Amino acid sequence: MKYLKDNIDEIKQRAVKSAKKVNRDPNEIIIVGVTKTVQSNVIKEANKLGINDIGENKAQELCEKYSTINVDNNNKIKWHFIGHLQTNKVRHIIDKVDLIHSVDSYKLALEINKRARAIDKVMDVLVQVNIAEEMSKFGISIDKCDNLIKQLSDLPNIKVCGLMTMAPYSDHPEESRQYFRKLKKLSIDIKDKNYDNINMDNLSMGMTGDFEVAIEEGANIVRIGTALFGVR
Ligand SMILES: *Cc1c(COP(=O)(O)O)cnc(C)c1O
Repeated sequence: MKYLKDNIDEIKQRAVKSAKKVNRDPNEIIIVGVTKTVQSNVIKEANKLGINDIGENKAQELCEKYSTINVDNNNKIKWHFIGHLQTNKVRHIIDKVDLIHSVDSYKLALEINKRARAIDKVMDVLVQVNIAEEMSKFGISIDKCDNLIKQLSDLPNIKVCGLMTMAPYSDHPEESRQYFRKLKKLSIDIKDKNYDNINMDNLSMGMTGDFEVAIEEGANIVRIGTALFGVR
């Protein structure tokens, strides 16, 4: 799969370039390969070619791929759950994922905490913020974010590791910049509160169309589907 190697090399180079442009260490950028609708054999190949982080947005799809891939893959892959998560699906993924990017309510967090406790795990999560306040998007509003995080700091089997957002759809990457800046600022404001058990070190923002802008604005996790695996 030559195209895959070329795509991965290109995206890695572009990520390095963006990091260097703003004097950041390129090694701190994690590229999550977003593999919704991508077949398991392609995911394995991507992993061989150096994509160690895989993101899925549906619980069932993640579970199916996890069982086919992890059997002969020595668990090299870190699985990220990046989509809207219904509370009744938490128990299916809790033992499989390394990071849930999409916590946006206390109710969901309580369920994650409960299911994580049952398997003696502390689940790393990001809080998803609807930074542009779009009706169509999941995520908590900026106003309510601080309060949610305060509540999450009391849950022993959840560890908040940062924030995640999606910028509004646009053909122009520069339009995303204002939203990425807002998320960065929000994370600094929350960090300054020094809540127990809350870390704001991770910012998951930027996709195929705008990941370079996101890195310039402080993203350390970018979620890339189309540019690696082709148009869905
Ligand atoms: C699909 C998806 C992505 C990747 O989008 P591309 O534009 O294909 O890179 C990133 N984040 C989330 C939450 C997604 O659902």
